[in-house]
Amino acid sequence: MRFPLASTAKVASHIIRHKLKGTPRFATVLQLEPLHTCNLTCTGCGRIREYSTSLKDVMPLEDCLQAPIDCNAPMVSICGGEPLIYPQIEALTDGILGQGRIVYMCTNAMFMRRKMRAWLAKEFLKKPQVVEKHLVELVAQDLVSAKDADAVRQGPKDPAAPVIAPNQFFYWNVHLDGLEYTHDLIVEREGVFKECVLAMRMAKLLGYQVATNTTIYKETDMAEIEAMYEFLGEIGLDGHTISPGYDYDAAKKDMVERLGLQPENFFLTRDMTREKFKDSLDWAARFPFLNTPVFLEFLAGQRELTCSAWAVPTRNIGGWKGPCYFMTDNHFSSYGELLEKVDWDKYGVVQGKARDPRCENCMVHCGYEPSATLGGKENAQRGDMWKNIKFNFGSKPKPSGKGKTVNAFNGVTAGRGHLTGEQVKRAAAKPSVAAAAA
Ligand code: SF4
Ligand code: SF4
Repeated sequence: MRFPLASTAKVASHIIRHKLKGTPRFATVLQLEPLHTCNLTCTGCGRIREYSTSLKDVMPLEDCLQAPIDCNAPMVSICGGEPLIYPQIEALTDGILGQGRIVYMCTNAMFMRRKMRAWLAKEFLKKPQVVEKHLVELVAQDLVSAKDADAVRQGPKDPAAPVIAPNQFFYWNVHLDGLEYTHDLIVEREGVFKECVLAMRMAKLLGYQVATNTTIYKETDMAEIEAMYEFLGEIGLDGHTISPGYDYDAAKKDMVERLGLQPENFFLTRDMTREKFKDSLDWAARFPFLNTPVFLEFLAGQRELTCSAWAVPTRNIGGWKGPCYFMTDNHFSSYGELLEKVDWDKYGVVQGKARDPRCENCMVHCGYEPSATLGGKENAQRGDMWKNIKFNFGSKPKPSGKGKTVNAFNGVTAGRGHLTGEQVKRAAAKPSVAAAAA
């Protein structure tokens, strides 16, 4: 099966229940942003620019735990900012899993290995022999240093503190936008791709479920993304989501002011998206994609869908963000108020016409993936249900073996570094540095 049966049953029963009741709009995935602080400054990230907050600005744990109850989505994507910086991330994860929901931890992976060592240290108290076996393997594979392995053997600093443990309803969801050179360029820091790979390998060795999420930009080389999926197949990952980039106003402003880039050279129009995604259905057959085939048909230009942004609401420090994850016209005090006060007929693209100019080029998963899943008279076509059943219950694609030959470490590891972030400013002050790196 492409998806674990227990998770599929959880989501399917939620949708069927609402369909039988005739609920016109309901949540399927909650995007929970407990904070907007991040340790990276990725090019194109609207979040850290729209909400340039400090570590003091975090949602209280009780509000974070109340949000999934309020909208009753079966899946919660904990994002941000970097959610692993949230001071009570372990208690938050535990609490949402305890509500019987599926958790996706959307992370840049820079703190993943630390969090997994914390789990190992706690586990060491209960199962020292099992953990010792893991440690020997992790040290042998350079996924944990000998010093960190010794620290794990000391046990947890606070044995009562919660940790993020492997769980059938928990996924690490790692942000990856290309192979080493490209990914490090986009996240504006060298070494991030390498850390992502180490963290994902460690997670799989310890029995966690791991997925990736990738954004496609105008400059993305789709052959490189295909090679990335071949490479990730060798790590044995559990799934991938892919989505075209959205041109946030805040990200556009930052690109012009800080990087001197022109946004129209970075973000995709609808036609460009269709061209980029023309092979995505073939990819879904070869790689363990989590996107539905109906959404991929939409991205490939084979059908139209209308936007269902109400199904993927965003809750952050400002409240319930409306109308969608990308556009902020207002924040509301509850999911019910968001549903009631937003005039949903004003958004999306219908029969090629954008109802709001900001929606014109948007084909993102959080607006259109729920339309693909939920169907409805505007979106459903004959045969969709069987297509989805075949996709969900069909066998999971296996690695082809080609990933072994992919030159994934083609950036700084291969002596092909580049200037990013603060280095650009330093090089501008010292032109000789820029010339040497060119
Ligand atoms: S890691 Fe995520 S939240 Fe942080 S800057 Fe990059 S895209 Fe934005
Ligand atoms: S089309 Fe995109 S930008 Fe417009 S409301 Fe839907 S998700 Fe938001």
